[in-house]
Amino acid sequence: QAKTLGRSRYEFFDVELRRRMQRRLRLEQDLRDAVRLGKLWAAYQPVVDLRTNRMVAVEGLLRWTHPVHGAVPPMEFIPLAEESDLINQLGAHVLRVTTQELAARRASGLDVDLKINLSTRQLDDPALIPDVERALHTTGLPAKALCLEITESALMRDSALASEALSALREIGVRLAIDDFGTGYSSLAQLQRLTLDTLKIDRSFVMRLGDSADAEAIVTSIIAMAHAVQLTVVAEGVENEMQLNLLRELGCDQAQGYYLGKPMPARELWD
Ligand code: C2E
Ligand code: MG
Ligand code: MG
Ligand code: MG
Repeated sequence: QAKTLGRSRYEFFDVELRRRMQRRLRLEQDLRDAVRLGKLWAAYQPVVDLRTNRMVAVEGLLRWTHPVHGAVPPMEFIPLAEESDLINQLGAHVLRVTTQELAARRASGLDVDLKINLSTRQLDDPALIPDVERALHTTGLPAKALCLEITESALMRDSALASEALSALREIGVRLAIDDFGTGYSSLAQLQRLTLDTLKIDRSFVMRLGDSADAEAIVTSIIAMAHAVQLTVVAEGVENEMQLNLLRELGCDQAQGYYLGKPMPARELWD
């Protein structure tokens, strides 16, 4: 009895596993085609200065509209791309497309900076630095108008290649941000050593602001810690007015979230 049960479970698992692997393989192939055919596009989400209430930057977020499955969220396809070198092509594409789009908007008078996300593997890619230089050069976007966001976990990885890439990026003059801060274990010393410009407080803390005294205490101390090492603090995932007011009171510099604006196609945001 137990043996049969075990076996049928095993078979079920096998079928399920095979089905999932097939979907992944197909998605990976489709993603490869999408990158090659230039089918990936960027949505832009406003980042607002809490002192002036002005949109000071946008974060470019990758979007994939699959011909059959519709919108596939980045949380699904980015990890897929990260398992192969596809992430490097994908990252190069985002860099090209967003710097072009932003430079064009700035040329017609818009004073807004660009933030984009870098994955761990891009930091290890020797093509990253030349790609960034080329994007700035061909679009005329000033280096200081470009901010590259790297997650806390990626930054804390002890990689010689990555720290070389970070110094080269600083040399070029682009800004660097630590993304999803609070989900890893970085110390004040590490934050200082990394010499970044911006720290983004992870949405999971912002979400609980107002319901949880703990969350408020955590956000307060993150802001203090960031300011102690001269970092600009951005809160991500602001969904209501209460969170926004509280963040302003706590001295947070900038904010981003559905309450201030969802990620949108460029023409919807600006035309
Ligand atoms: P992230 O860099 O932390 O980006 C913020 C994510 O939070 C975005 O999700 C955004 O749509 C979402 N968000 C913003 N405000 C709110 C809010 O008020 N409420 C809620 N619930 N969500 C909010 P998205 O676009 O799905 O991207 C998810 C993650 O995928 C990003 O997190 C980033 O880590 C990664 N990603 C997106 N585009 C790229 C890219 O071009 N390259 C790389 N390497 N990663 C990317
Ligand atoms: Mg980000
Ligand atoms: Mg983030
Ligand atoms: Mg996040």
